[in-house]
Amino acid sequence: MTLSPEDFATALLDWFDRHGRKDLPWQQDPTPYRVWVSEIMLQQTQVSVVIPYFERFMARFPTLSDLASAELDSVLAHWSGLGYYARARNLHRAAGLIQEQHGGVFPAYLEQVQKLPGIGRSTAGAILSLAGGQHQPILDGNVKRVLARCFGVEGWPGSHAVLARLWTLAERCTPSERAGAYNQGMMDLGATLCTRSKPDCPNCPLTQICEARAQGRQGELPSPRPSQTRPIRVTTMLLVRNPAGEILLERRPPTGIWGGLWSLPETAPEEPIEDWCQTRLGVRPRLVEILPERRHSFSHYSLRIHVRVIELERLPTRIEDKGEPCWISPAQARTLGLPAPVGKILDELSKPG
Ligand code: SF4
Repeated sequence: MTLSPEDFATALLDWFDRHGRKDLPWQQDPTPYRVWVSEIMLQQTQVSVVIPYFERFMARFPTLSDLASAELDSVLAHWSGLGYYARARNLHRAAGLIQEQHGGVFPAYLEQVQKLPGIGRSTAGAILSLAGGQHQPILDGNVKRVLARCFGVEGWPGSHAVLARLWTLAERCTPSERAGAYNQGMMDLGATLCTRSKPDCPNCPLTQICEARAQGRQGELPSPRPSQTRPIRVTTMLLVRNPAGEILLERRPPTGIWGGLWSLPETAPEEPIEDWCQTRLGVRPRLVEILPERRHSFSHYSLRIHVRVIELERLPTRIEDKGEPCWISPAQARTLGLPAPVGKILDELSKPG
């Protein structure tokens, strides 16, 4: 089914009328100033925590001009415990600017509101729609989640392209009538039903039209931030076979990756194999076979492993005593503690054919 913005808005507003929150303190007498303060407090903070702070703040700074003329210390004292104090400093600075530049009246145009410190496009849209009924979309974290799920928007919302797509959807879905109720409904739905980890789809008004729900992809959308690309390291593992069919293993140092496990000798990719054999074993290789490269991921880097199978021309005359080297049959080696990629290499080589 193709989801139309009109269907979306209608379903959302119906739900808001029946279940949305309408008794929050800033919803009573929703002046731009009161809505502004509430929106700033609600950034990063839950409604239940914000309510007592909002009430104390309004009791002390009932109007914008009270806030503008207050000492910053007094504003910070009323913010104490809410955290993210840059929000309080910006609020105080913006109140001063409104006094100076707008005659103490909260500006009515989106562009003007967005220029105030601490107010982005979504917060500006929320203030103008909730307090003034203006037709302005919002796109806070809750709204992003609802839209990404409902419209099946792939990709991380922090990326420019995905954000632009979500803003377009927000603009198309926000109805010209009752934009404030619609925006409040979106925030409520995201906070109460379409939650990050446990969306309550059976009780959601969008359940019949939601793409994530239809595809069972609620847990995948919105897509998480892509993990940072890990650095890549490269090593060459040497599977050295002597004429008796034994392979050479070494014990790794007790600390570091694969600490204390038995593993294949390693060398730098640029070191000639012949030199390694002569130096470590005093014997030349009869045959060197190159196996396909493999990769192994650690939490902080990826390892690209080159694998060389070396057949020695005769039993080694010596062995450099490094890492408790030992010659062992491949079957016995499989009984030891080995790094996963080494175990896989031995399994592959023991397969018939
Ligand atoms: S149906 Fe589920 S996933 Fe879709 S918007 Fe509603 S709660 Fe979110």
